[in-house]
Amino acid sequence: MSSYQSINPANNQLLKSWPSHDEAAVSHALEVADRLFHSSWSKGDIQPRLQVLKKLADLIDSRAEELATIASKEMGKLIGQSRGEVKICSQIARYYAENAERILQPQSYPSDLGEAWVEYHPIGVLVAVEPWNFPYYQLMRVLAPNLALGNPVLAKHANIVPHCADVFEKLVREAGAPEGAWTNLFISTDQVADLIADDRVQGVALTGSERAGSAVAEQAGKHLKKSTLELGGNDVFVVLDDADLDEAVRQGVQARLSNCGQVCTAAKRFILHEKIADRFINQFSAALSSATLGDPLDEKTTLGPLSSADARDRLVKQVDEAVANGAKLVTGGKAVEGAGCYYQPTILTGITPDNPAYYQEFFGPVAQVYVIGDDQAAVALANDSHYGLGGSVWTRDIARGRKLASAIETGMVFINSQSDTSAELPFGGVKRSGYGRELSDLGIKEFANQKLVVVA
Ligand code: NDP
Repeated sequence: MSSYQSINPANNQLLKSWPSHDEAAVSHALEVADRLFHSSWSKGDIQPRLQVLKKLADLIDSRAEELATIASKEMGKLIGQSRGEVKICSQIARYYAENAERILQPQSYPSDLGEAWVEYHPIGVLVAVEPWNFPYYQLMRVLAPNLALGNPVLAKHANIVPHCADVFEKLVREAGAPEGAWTNLFISTDQVADLIADDRVQGVALTGSERAGSAVAEQAGKHLKKSTLELGGNDVFVVLDDADLDEAVRQGVQARLSNCGQVCTAAKRFILHEKIADRFINQFSAALSSATLGDPLDEKTTLGPLSSADARDRLVKQVDEAVANGAKLVTGGKAVEGAGCYYQPTILTGITPDNPAYYQEFFGPVAQVYVIGDDQAAVALANDSHYGLGGSVWTRDIARGRKLASAIETGMVFINSQSDTSAELPFGGVKRSGYGRELSDLGIKEFANQKLVVVA
């Protein structure tokens, strides 16, 4: 039986099984990708590659409803949010179609050694290991910059979203990309390791758990390959005493319900100033507990299922353990009875540093709430984390917000907004949230040979 199965998490029905790629297929895919890298497609004029991205953006827009429905059925995202994900994918493709040539222009370096500049060249075949939570966006973040640059990609998607993986590969081909530019592989983690070890592969990008990131980084390190990692996050949502409370509550609720809380950069630790804490908790709790659970394809649903039974069971265990270690439930705290992988919106308070939950990421509709007395305490609590992905700060005093944003040890901070993503902005973290950046000018240069040329 293939481990690549499409199962609707709203009712646990098996939609389709997908055959795995055997050794011969993987070997062929690598050969084709490497040949492409040595051809004029990768090494020549950028325009044909940008034309593919432009066509891909148009294709995605024209097939948006079909793509959104596939994702919603396969991993439980609400249909409106799936449409949003599809939209940002076409925006990313279009952004690189329109900006990659400018970003990749050689850059001059004033030097006493002579006329000096850095050129940007592709480095070779890459492996991308991607997760299910944004089953198209995660792929597009790797595809668009690397297609523009000329790096062919072998992609191993999460085993619960094979339909999204398959349809994405077909779209890239339909947009005119040659065979090998983006190859979807239904393979095991051992096969990923074999690919990383192969001399023809020059880098690996992974988004996923710490466990997967650590394994892949170890393999990449052993074989001296470049890697980028985008791992978990335990992002703070700091609400100060002068914040616009209604807006903070509204976006805080969105952060916990959107994609059923399964977003690496979504707010997970709510750090509230003591002057507004009770009011925030009351409003937040009322809004979360009135969420409408249901079918992701029903427009009235505001909270869908988790992506899989495994994801739900992991969350059940974590919340039970947090409560057993002294955390208090303000609302929720249980899986929903019935066929689908639903979990109640949940708020936990009273989490002390000796509770295992204190350092854990809850990948679901669970909020941890902490109360602090001043800005210094907010920063100290924010930085007392193994993770360092994103975060947000809520205050009407922008100078105060900027001070906190600078002091928080993460790769991204938003003031008066929950975390967000856009093609032109870099995305990534520090500490155990990983390293390297995706998107923007920084993302496209991660897997470039930044080659210095000097004329003496
Ligand atoms: P994983 O990290 O297991 O899955 C992400 C991808 O990594 C999948 O394609 C998976 O393949 C692959 N993978 C897993 N182990 C290895 C390995 N040793 N070598 C190569 N590839 C590997 O995430 P889960 O789905 O298990 O989710 C667990 C937790 O990870 C979540 O609760 C959350 O904390 C975090 N996570 C973070 C995400 C983010 O956006 N940063 C996204 C998803 C999860 P396969 O599916 O075949 O196992």
